[in-house]
Amino acid sequence: MIKCSFCEQPLYCKACGKPFRPRRGATHVGIYQPDMAISCPECQATLICQACGYDYGQGEGEDQAQ
Ligand SMILES: [Zn+2]
Ligand SMILES: [Zn+2]
Repeated sequence: MIKCSFCEQPLYCKACGKPFRPRRGATHVGIYQPDMAISCPECQATLICQACGYDYGQGEGEDQAQ
């Protein structure tokens, strides 16, 4: 199980409710790299943590206005 890097709860896609399961390789690494947008492999939506609402498509740090 991948944990959300922000709230450390198990990471579920907010759009489809399925657990985020990255394919071997790229995405597994990418989830800890804030510059890289991540999409849910199940529904292709931008990955948003169901627990805390953290948006993995936004990157981190710059746009906190919303
Ligand atoms: Zn979270
Ligand atoms: Zn999804």
